[in-house]
Amino acid sequence: MKTVFEKSVKGRGGFAVSALEVERYDYESDRLREELDLPELSEPEVAAHYTALSKRTFGVDDGFYPLGSCTMKYNPKLHEEIAALPGFRDAHPLARADKVQGCLAVIDTLSAYLAGITGMDAVTLQPCAGAHGEFTALLMVKAYHLSRGDSGRTKVLIPDSAHGTNPASAAMAGFEVVTLKSDDDGRVNLADLRLKAGDDTAALMLTNPNTLGIFEKHVAEIADIVHEAGGLMYYDGANLNAVMGVVRPGDMGFDLVHLNLHKTFSAPHGGGGPGSGPVCCKAELAPFLPDPQVTRTEKGFRFGRSEWSCGRVSAFYGNFGVYVKALAYIVTLGGKGLRAAAQTAVLNANYLREKISYFYPVGEGRCMHEFVLSMRKLREETGVTAADVAKGLIDRGIHPPTMYFPLIVEDALMFEPTETADKAALDAAADALKEIIDLAYSDPEALHSAPRTTPVRRPDEAAAARNPVVKG
Ligand SMILES: *Cc1c(COP(=O)(O)O)cnc(C)c1O
Repeated sequence: MKTVFEKSVKGRGGFAVSALEVERYDYESDRLREELDLPELSEPEVAAHYTALSKRTFGVDDGFYPLGSCTMKYNPKLHEEIAALPGFRDAHPLARADKVQGCLAVIDTLSAYLAGITGMDAVTLQPCAGAHGEFTALLMVKAYHLSRGDSGRTKVLIPDSAHGTNPASAAMAGFEVVTLKSDDDGRVNLADLRLKAGDDTAALMLTNPNTLGIFEKHVAEIADIVHEAGGLMYYDGANLNAVMGVVRPGDMGFDLVHLNLHKTFSAPHGGGGPGSGPVCCKAELAPFLPDPQVTRTEKGFRFGRSEWSCGRVSAFYGNFGVYVKALAYIVTLGGKGLRAAAQTAVLNANYLREKISYFYPVGEGRCMHEFVLSMRKLREETGVTAADVAKGLIDRGIHPPTMYFPLIVEDALMFEPTETADKAALDAAADALKEIIDLAYSDPEALHSAPRTTPVRRPDEAAAARNPVVKG
């Protein structure tokens, strides 16, 4: 496909302006127009170009998108409209607090809801992504230990099944990462935890349900071990939609949690758009939250500061538009609706897993919001890899699941249907997978060369990631 620059025709434009009624004034910037090589196209050409471009990709609006560990669910378009109401959209980040009381009320109300959903006492909405929330929480962990004169807590314990951002955030916050082994069923090995937890433990970072979609049933015991060692319990709640409204991290023994509003609470993500990774914490950690905090005073909402704060982590107050969408989502669904969304997410994952269980799922019994299949046997028997299966799904109108993650499962394919997929979509996905497995045994070559229906077929993924060419 040609770029807009290649399609450009000198002198062509997309608008007609009426004749000047005032004397012409030549701005200096007119020269800029000549120096900049801007494409010149008619309006229909521009519309056709971007429509064609939009058809060359696959997004949540195109169909089933079971990208595990990333909760790519369909989000109501109405929430975009609400976030774009002029009072929200046009609020200036430098406006005085008394001029933006409505916006501050959104922050305060959403914070209160998130505290309730997670079972925590205080919240910051400032972090702009999940990893940013992890980093912020770890700065708070550090500030907390130092405030008690406890400077020997230099290590953060992280299970080997964790999302890659966990060890990265811990390292960025200046901690040493200690990896915990998983049992065969994907849960934390308690003996290994007992061995490694000690007076140098700052915190344990845990995802529950973990990235295999399995609930850590020993979580109370894990919390006891870490607390007895003097460490804090941190919950990676990026994908809270498996448990929201059902069980709260604060009741499981956690001291801090981050959420991904752009996974669980109605902000679309995946295209690099704005995100939000709030941190919720217990009261004893509240003094260490980043500055500034929105506080309620007799004269309305104000920005407050704490002398023990871990510092500032965002310009202004994070991505405000995302808060409006999250609040709209929570208010529309209500407590019962959030619970129903979580239950449906878990039901959908189990339904799909059950339909394709001959595909060698990892772990026994029921899963939570996602599940993992290992394509190792298929690869050994047919030569067809997990990547080939994913490419085959693209030809059948389905976005690939997460591939080769978590790292502790060989040839992993990780599916997360979310609550927004209906039964027809789940059945179609199961049928597509069955067709692909059958094809692997009868004609493996057909899958090595998939996808056949896309404009770009098998790019060199490593080269594309390392040397991206993002301009025409
Ligand atoms: C997505 C995710 C993160 C990181 O969130 P980002 O917004 O991409 O930084 C962390 N942990 C888990 C379990 C996730 O799924």
